[in-house]
Amino acid sequence: MIIHSKLPDVGTTVFTTMSLLAAQHNAVNLGQGFPDFNMSEELVELVNKAMKSGLNQYAPMAGLPLLRERLAEKVEKLYARKINPDTDITITPGGTYAIYTALTTILEPGDEVIVFEPAYDSYIPNIEVNGAIPVLIPLKFPDYSIPWDVVRKSITARTKMIMINSPHNPTGSVLSKNDIEQLRQIVARTNIFILSDEVYEHLIFDGLQHESLLRHADLLERTFVCFSFGKTYHSTGWKLGYCISSPELMKEFRKVHQYNCFSVHTPSQAALGEYITNSSAYLGLGPFVQKKRDYFQQLMADTLFKPLPSYGSYFQCYSYEGLSAESDKEFAIRLTKEYGVTTIPVSTFYKEGKDDKVIRFCFCKKEETLQRAVEKLRLFKV
Ligand code: PMP
Ligand code: GLN
Repeated sequence: MIIHSKLPDVGTTVFTTMSLLAAQHNAVNLGQGFPDFNMSEELVELVNKAMKSGLNQYAPMAGLPLLRERLAEKVEKLYARKINPDTDITITPGGTYAIYTALTTILEPGDEVIVFEPAYDSYIPNIEVNGAIPVLIPLKFPDYSIPWDVVRKSITARTKMIMINSPHNPTGSVLSKNDIEQLRQIVARTNIFILSDEVYEHLIFDGLQHESLLRHADLLERTFVCFSFGKTYHSTGWKLGYCISSPELMKEFRKVHQYNCFSVHTPSQAALGEYITNSSAYLGLGPFVQKKRDYFQQLMADTLFKPLPSYGSYFQCYSYEGLSAESDKEFAIRLTKEYGVTTIPVSTFYKEGKDDKVIRFCFCKKEETLQRAVEKLRLFKV
């Protein structure tokens, strides 16, 4: 058989390869982003309860009404935005799926999509599999802010979409009010759509406000905002998320969604619908994870690695400039094999592998895990 790959340049994801390498070498895995502690016992009980009460058949295509209604209440409380749970929200099997579906809903072959790099690994393949063209703009190093002057110059008649992500994976940078204003000016009077990846909405630190696009009615009419319950409830293995948009965009999104997975795990939705009213669970998340960031930074101060700032997400990047001439991939592999700590080389988040000698650590781990990792990293000498 002759196979014409739709994604000829794509291999296995860096998260899979680095997690495998960590397991082979029995290394502390601060690579792939997931918590290593338990999620809420109460939420687990609620799923069990839903299953035992017989909620084991298909959910409605858009998601359980209770969950969508409660999400609409949450959005109004947090972002002062009234959305219609019937028409503006769809529950999805994870944030990645929500992003893929939004892109597939909008993109046609030859469309250009502005993507900032470093970029979460699924964005570019998701664009390319739709026959569209990623227009790659590097964030400014080392603060990873958006060069809006470059964005302005990169807009063409074929620009279909701009993708943003705040708090940002892998860098932990966050967008400000001014960033949103710049974006607004660029898309005004155009037909450019926006995809806003806000899976880390609650993982934001130092008293900063999450600048959700849900705060802006004028932008929401052209925006898909994507979320993940995995990040909010320490349940990345559940693969549950949702997308919020305007009724017009959501109508098209659902046309793609209904013929892909159709509907999402019913008992988990019933459980989340009940649990979501507990606002302290998500409002406490930022401070809880910030403590982990601070603890990790404090431990890391005893190593040779130089921190780059992290204002949100699960992640903190460190530079090893001056410590080794190796590429970041070689360096991350050596750290796993020789020192027993696994990280993610940041060049893998650039299509052309731009290497600033930066590696990403996931600090959303038990204190003892962070301690164990840093004890090993202290042994690193030039
Ligand atoms: N976007 C970003 C930036 C992420 O880090 C993640 C988590 N891997 C996702 C989307 C997808 O989340 P999910 O695990 O719910 O698919
Ligand atoms: N979002 C996680 C990360 O960035 C991992 C996602 C995955 O393994 N696909 O580490």
